[in-house]
Amino acid sequence: MKKWLNTIIFIVFIVNILCLPSTAKASHTDFLEKLVFPVKNIMSHFYDDWNETRGNGDRTHDGLDIRSSKGTPIVAVADGVVNTIAYSEASGYYLAIDHGNGWLSLYVHLNDDLIGNDNLGGFETAFAEKIYVGAVVVGGQEIGYIGDSGNAEGTVPHLHFELRYNGVPQAIYEYIKASFQRFEISLNVPKKVGLNVF
Ligand SMILES: [Zn+2]
Repeated sequence: MKKWLNTIIFIVFIVNILCLPSTAKASHTDFLEKLVFPVKNIMSHFYDDWNETRGNGDRTHDGLDIRSSKGTPIVAVADGVVNTIAYSEASGYYLAIDHGNGWLSLYVHLNDDLIGNDNLGGFETAFAEKIYVGAVVVGGQEIGYIGDSGNAEGTVPHLHFELRYNGVPQAIYEYIKASFQRFEISLNVPKKVGLNVF
């Protein structure tokens, strides 16, 4: 009897080990394949600039830059809770959303300009209304606006976008490209060649 019990415990143990990684992987794929494109404008331009050398060659690019016109709405890529709203000299105005599954999305260089007043904007020009730390957001909800704050001043206005898993930025270009293609289809616009649509 005891031997049987041990055998059953052993089988359950092995099945658990075999099942866990694939279950975890499936939930990642599910999350990544349902992302909403973070910029609400079909006239967006991006390419796989993950890991490009930046600065004076002393750092690599941990995200994806999505260029669009200043003031274009930025939306949450998935459901979650706003866990950071802040300003820093390098990042400018930025925001992070915790998706509750180990994934965190980060939106950097939000708008700091008023029309005719470069850099005189503030939190009200960077973030959408009702966006605060602790706010529950749904995928596709407007959270902020494209800009050039922080060290993006002087560049083409763009969103620096990152997806971090357990705090580590991940290479997610293919998933964002797919989310852009879904966005195009959702607007019923003709299929374009490539993603450079400026
Ligand atoms: Zn960037």
